[in-house]
Amino acid sequence: MASDIDIAQAATLQRITQVASEKLGIADEHLEPYGHYKAKISLKYLDSLKDRPNGKLILVTAISPTPAGEGKTTTTVGLGDALNRIGKKALVCLREPSLGPVFGVKGGAAGGGYAQVVPMEDINLHFTGDFNAIQLANNLLAAVIDNHIHHGNALDIDVRRVTWKRVLDMNDRALRDITIALGGTANGYPRQDGFDIVVASEVMAIFCLATSLDDLKQRLGNIVCAYTRAGKPVTARELNAHGAMTVLLKDAIQPNLVQTLENNPAILHGGPFANIAHGCNSVIATQASLKLADYVVTEAGFGADLGAEKFIDIKCRKSGLRPDAVVIVATIRALKFHGGVKKEDLNTENLDALAKGIANIEKHVQNVREHYGLPCVVSINNFTADTPAELKLLQERMAALGAPVVVARHWAEGGKGAEDVAHEVVRIIEANEGRSGFKFVYEEAAPLMEKVTAIATKIYGAAGVSADAKVRKQIAELQEAGYGHYPVCVAKTQYSFSTDANAKGAPTGHTLNIREVRLAAGAEFIVMVCGDVMTMPGLPKVPSAEKIDLVDGKVVGLF
Ligand code: ADP
Ligand code: MG
Repeated sequence: MASDIDIAQAATLQRITQVASEKLGIADEHLEPYGHYKAKISLKYLDSLKDRPNGKLILVTAISPTPAGEGKTTTTVGLGDALNRIGKKALVCLREPSLGPVFGVKGGAAGGGYAQVVPMEDINLHFTGDFNAIQLANNLLAAVIDNHIHHGNALDIDVRRVTWKRVLDMNDRALRDITIALGGTANGYPRQDGFDIVVASEVMAIFCLATSLDDLKQRLGNIVCAYTRAGKPVTARELNAHGAMTVLLKDAIQPNLVQTLENNPAILHGGPFANIAHGCNSVIATQASLKLADYVVTEAGFGADLGAEKFIDIKCRKSGLRPDAVVIVATIRALKFHGGVKKEDLNTENLDALAKGIANIEKHVQNVREHYGLPCVVSINNFTADTPAELKLLQERMAALGAPVVVARHWAEGGKGAEDVAHEVVRIIEANEGRSGFKFVYEEAAPLMEKVTAIATKIYGAAGVSADAKVRKQIAELQEAGYGHYPVCVAKTQYSFSTDANAKGAPTGHTLNIREVRLAAGAEFIVMVCGDVMTMPGLPKVPSAEKIDLVDGKVVGLF
């Protein structure tokens, strides 16, 4: 089959103004086009839709993945196209890609095969500049902090306790740990610092959780960026940085409209990490989409234990969003991997390993139904190496659980290949109409330690939670300081239900060890770091960047 970029470049795109008016009824004056194929939709216009009824919200999540990704984005795009094909007014709502993975290992994040959003080169390569705006807003606060210290430090900021880092949308390990302000008195006070990648910035999380420009400014003001020598938190508001940060974000905060290969509308907006943050597109984009279409398909990062849990407990809790159905993406390959097959043998039929690995999806299905209270469809993202016997085995095991399961071929066939998924999703939404069992994993009022324990025991299958005295004390202090009502954002490996990436399938009885706690006072969650998290990735020995080039005015090598 042709490469993703070849397929994308061969697509016949429509003017974005045409897609907006024909598919969503948006008049030209409400769009701010960035060229012919991308546009921002005005917030004022979106506000005017407030009284419209909401469409149905479909959350696409997955089994515990392999490093290659199991096809959530492709499934989201394919399902959106399929819903349009079966006569529904459907809209796809996704994150914007980060340049880190584009130039690193994973490549683009605009779908793949015949299920992509386009123009794929633009989307993957700094798009409408949103991440740049987020970077600038983040770095403005960093500059203001060091400037405040330089000019007399009226707030008595402890230079050893500045928690705010600078950010860049690039994988660059040389910037992880650095010393700044060298070179003499004119350059400020030297201190140890470091860069994170833009998608790990709290500004990104805030951007994606804010419900309006006012809410955005409030949250930016609430950021705790340092501590005084007396140990008191210092906020961006005290440094008067939040107003200018909001100004830098005023255009970026408007959702971006693009199209799929089949000329159906897609909104891409924001892109927080799924470990240190909650891993889904902006609340503003999802809320807008529900006013613009009857069916909205959206993706949460990582597997259903992480992305979907955060979607529900963090994103839905405060915004009032409620999914109507969940699609769990699975691949035969990844389930065999969970059954112990080595990466290089995944293309060979292996029913024993598959039978074992299915434990992983069984636990995810159970979580979605029991702990999130939502109906689900299992969508098998079909790879050419899948055998009929393997597909049959997975279908039988899912049928035994009473979980609907369909084979999806959107990657090879476009929307047509996901029509069965579309029909099944519409069916379960209609069957569950008016009797939502939606629930959170924990209540807002529960203490922080109880919240993380609920996630660990119910969702991860852990026996309990551990933390050393220092971490326990930190959690108690945050509880005392009035942050106890915040949701918890667990940062752990996506490859296992446990904190051990090699524990495949559905391990039980393990312990979730909390290594570190971080306050995100603007985003309004408490990050609990369980294992190693990388907030500034590095590039591999041969980065994708080496293959990307411009030949006769055309981008090549971008996957
Ligand atoms: P996720 O969103 O879960 O990380 P993606 O949808 O981005 O996964 O897919 C990851 C990669 O796998 C993409 O490069 C995509 O083109 C490729 N891919 C997805 N589905 C298939 C398939 N059925 N066959 C071959 N490659 C696929
Ligand atoms: Mg994805």
